[in-house]
Amino acid sequence: MNKKYQVVKGFRDIFPPESFLFWQAEKLAREIFARFGYAEILLPVLESQELFSRSIGADTDIVAKEMFVVPDKKGQNLVLRPEATASVVRAYVEGLAQKGSAKLFYYGPMFRYERPQKGRYRQFWQIGAEAIGYAGPGVDAELLLLLDLFFKDLGLKDISIRLNSLGCKICRPAYREALVKYLKSNESALCEECKRRLETNPLRVLDCKNEACKAVTKNAPSPSAFLCPDCATHFAGLRKLLDRQKLVYQLDDQLVRGLDYYTRTVFEFQAPTGLGAQNAVVGGGRYDDLVEELGGNPTPAIGFALGVERLALLLSEKISEAELLAGPEAFLVFSGEKAYAFAFKLLFALRAAGLFADMALDEPLRSLRSQLKLADKLKSKAALIVGEDELSGKIFNLKLLGSGKELKLDHETLQRVAKVDWEEMKSHLSQPGFVYAGKEYEQALVQNQGLLKLLKIYLHELERQEE
Ligand SMILES: [Zn+2]
Ligand SMILES: [Zn+2]
Repeated sequence: MNKKYQVVKGFRDIFPPESFLFWQAEKLAREIFARFGYAEILLPVLESQELFSRSIGADTDIVAKEMFVVPDKKGQNLVLRPEATASVVRAYVEGLAQKGSAKLFYYGPMFRYERPQKGRYRQFWQIGAEAIGYAGPGVDAELLLLLDLFFKDLGLKDISIRLNSLGCKICRPAYREALVKYLKSNESALCEECKRRLETNPLRVLDCKNEACKAVTKNAPSPSAFLCPDCATHFAGLRKLLDRQKLVYQLDDQLVRGLDYYTRTVFEFQAPTGLGAQNAVVGGGRYDDLVEELGGNPTPAIGFALGVERLALLLSEKISEAELLAGPEAFLVFSGEKAYAFAFKLLFALRAAGLFADMALDEPLRSLRSQLKLADKLKSKAALIVGEDELSGKIFNLKLLGSGKELKLDHETLQRVAKVDWEEMKSHLSQPGFVYAGKEYEQALVQNQGLLKLLKIYLHELERQEE
C-alpha cells in the first residue's frame, strides 16, 4: 500500500454537514452586507510581517508568539494573515483612498501559530466588515445594528452586546497614567506576564485571563471616566442612536479589546453558553489612527470580525443535520436496460431545468429495492418509478418517501395535468384520475413547486422517446 497522507498539524478539514453551517452563515452575512451597502474585498492571505507588528502592536500575543511566518526565497519574512483589518487598511491606502470613503466586507481564513489544542486550529475563518472614512457615531450604530439583525435572522437569541469607549490619542494618556498608577499599587497581586505588560502595554493587563489579575482589574479606573469632550460627545451620540433603535447593550468599563489600534468605540457580541470561556462571537471597534499609521491620510474607521467556527457551533444547536443536508427533490428508480437509458436522459433534463435530481448511476442493474434504499439514504423527497409498465403505458408513478404515499397518473391525466398551471394544479388534486390526493401529498406540493416541473419534463421526455 502507498503512503497515506495526513492533514498538517494544527489544521483540519471541514466536512459536510459542518461546511453547510459555514455556508449558511456566509450566505446570510452576504445578503445583509449587501442591504447595508458593504461590498466585498478579496484579499491575499500573505502579507508582510511588518504590517501586523505595526498595526496590531508588537507586544500582543498575536505578533509576539502567534504569527505564521512564511520565509520567501529572497529571505523576506511574509506571514499568513492573523486577521484582516490591517490588510483591508493596507489595501484601502493602496487602492481606494483617492476615491474617499469605503464600506467593505471580507470572508476567509486567518492563521495563527498557536499550540494546537482541542477546538483551536491554526487556520480559522472570519467574516468581517470595515467602514473607512466615517467619523460620526452613525456608522458605529450601523455596524452594531447590522450584527443585531444578522444574529436575529440566524435565529440566535440571547446574544448580549458589551460596549465601551477607549478615548483617543488626546485623552488616552491621562487614562493610561491613572491605570498604571493603580496597577503599580497592586503589582504584587499580578501575574508575571502582567508585571511585564505593566511596562510595555498596561492596557493589556485588562485582558488577562488570570483570576488574580481579574480581581485587581475589576476595580481599575475606567477609560470612560477620562474621555475628552469630543470622545464623550461621540460616545453619547452613539448611545442615543442605539437607544432610539431600542438595541439592548451593556456598558462594560473593562472592555478594551486586545489590539493596539482601537480608539473610541469598542464592542463585543457574546453568546451565553456553549463556547466555554471564550464566548465572544464578534469583536470590533474604531481604529481612527490606523489609516494614518499605515501611510495614508488621517482617516477615521471602524470594523468588526466574526468568528465563523463559533457561529457554526451555535448554529449546529439550532439546525438539524436533516435540514442542512437536503436530499434530492426526486430520485429516479428504474428497472431494466431500456428504463435505465430513459432515466439517465431524464435525470440530466431535470438537472438542466434546475431540479435537484439523482439516481443510481454507477450500477445499472441494481434491484428496485436497493435503489429505494439509496433514495432513502440520500433523504430524497420522492422516488419517480420508471419501469417497463410506466414507460409502455406512459404512466406517472411517484412515491413520496416521507409518507410512503403514491401518486399514479394515467397517460391522459398526465397530459391534462401537465397543461395546467401551478394554481390550477392544486385544485386538480381532488379530481378523478388521481389515485391518491391526500393531505400529505398536498403539503408536499405546496412545499415543492418543483413537482409540476418534474411532471412536465417527464412527459416531454416520454414523448420525445417516441420520435
Ligand atoms: Zn478623546
Ligand atoms: Zn495577568
